[in-house]
Amino acid sequence: MASAGTFCPEEGCHHYAKVDEANIIKFGKSKQGVQRYRCKSCGTTFAATRGTLFYRKHAPVKDILETLALLAEGVRISSLSRAKGFKEDTILRWLREAARHAEAVEDVLLADYELSKAQVDGLWTYVGNKGQKGATQRAQTAESSGVVP
Ligand SMILES: [Zn+2]
Repeated sequence: MASAGTFCPEEGCHHYAKVDEANIIKFGKSKQGVQRYRCKSCGTTFAATRGTLFYRKHAPVKDILETLALLAEGVRISSLSRAKGFKEDTILRWLREAARHAEAVEDVLLADYELSKAQVDGLWTYVGNKGQKGATQRAQTAESSGVVP
């Protein structure tokens, strides 16, 4: 995976996701001390952590982060699904993916979406509650259905 700050995360930019084309410059730090960068080509500024998240996902990173931010603020998945037009399964998948990069996602949500730490923590609790559905159930069903008459 390309390291943070080496490519422009803005879709539509001429340099989008192209590494080491000398279009990225350092651009100060966020309140939380996260290094920020600016793309000289399109003028987008972004946190160091953003570029590596959800790289090459179907939905734009901005949509994913916005959705996660709204979830953290307490909006229900079913409401978000209707409002944004993403399947609930898709949103849950983003949540689980985000949880694997929890630290980096937290930096971005805190820096760019002005959420509190407690709100972001609530997001991970939510994933913990939802994340383990199905796996053990399916294994048991497979065993019992293998019986030959
Ligand atoms: Zn750019």
